[in-house]
Amino acid sequence: MAAPQMTERHARTRWIAGVDIGGTNLRVGLVPFAGGPPVAVSSAPTRAAHGPAAVVEEVASMLRAAIAEVGRANVAGVGVGAPGPLDRSRGVVIETPNLGWRDIPLVDMIASRIGLPVALDNDANCFAFGEWWLGAGRGAERLIGVTLGTGIGGGIILGGAPYRGASDAAGEVGHMSVDYSGRRCACGSRGCVEAYASGSAIAARAAEGIARGADSTLATAAGDPAGITAEAVCRAAAAGDRYAMLIVDETARVIGVAISDLIHLLNPDVIVIGGGVAGAGELLFAPLRDEVEQRAFRSAARACRIVPAELPATAGLVGAAGVFRLTVHGNV
Ligand SMILES: [Zn+2]
Repeated sequence: MAAPQMTERHARTRWIAGVDIGGTNLRVGLVPFAGGPPVAVSSAPTRAAHGPAAVVEEVASMLRAAIAEVGRANVAGVGVGAPGPLDRSRGVVIETPNLGWRDIPLVDMIASRIGLPVALDNDANCFAFGEWWLGAGRGAERLIGVTLGTGIGGGIILGGAPYRGASDAAGEVGHMSVDYSGRRCACGSRGCVEAYASGSAIAARAAEGIARGADSTLATAAGDPAGITAEAVCRAAAAGDRYAMLIVDETARVIGVAISDLIHLLNPDVIVIGGGVAGAGELLFAPLRDEVEQRAFRSAARACRIVPAELPATAGLVGAAGVFRLTVHGNV
């Protein structure tokens, strides 16, 4: 993606570089220190199979290109969002099954290549913080961000900062259980939201139904049931396939149950939902809101907006830049 033209005002602004390390894509951009839309945004596929050093080298080269656009002296530092769990105090990625990383000193690896200070937070916190700072939940006192993608992530923003919990593990929305004897989750537990509503779980549920004989265009469209993807399920639902609509409706209701629990627990002002699966739009949001309306205390449900992300591609890097600002400045 080409960078927008730098204006004179841009040239005078101090910038923070934001990095979003995703399982599928790397995204880098520059965010004004004072807040504002990111510029010099670029993305590249995450070549996880090449190992962590190659991925970090790619991030460093994207960072150098972005920083060169505004001049190094105008960039305060780098915020990085990465899948966790992390040890933020040491700047280390402890383990990321998606990337196959274990004990990677990510902060040192980026800082030594770029020569600027680096702050690290987990990708879901960065998504939530980005949507709170510049997106759909701007200025909310209590915000929860939920990402529906290959996995399901969550971030909680209270009083203008991520709430991280006792060991940086708060906000694991994907592993809230909706059924104590339900589907087995990759985490080892049962009935986790992620076991129903992640992209791969949606595809698996649809394929299971078709293998049992469900009547759906997906059976022929995909060629074989193993080729069914969440995207194909959402497309078929949008085209009126009744079985695909049922799968999307069930998915929305499972997420709605978890969101009702979050509303009962935290009484938030806004819940922002992003990630690829959120691209299903009203097919997902309408039954989800309906489920919340049926379950949550009325006063709490009325106080909470449930909205799609406004920065679907850049919330992660914007939030990572915000986390850097929070680290050096104490607020955003
Ligand atoms: Zn789980």
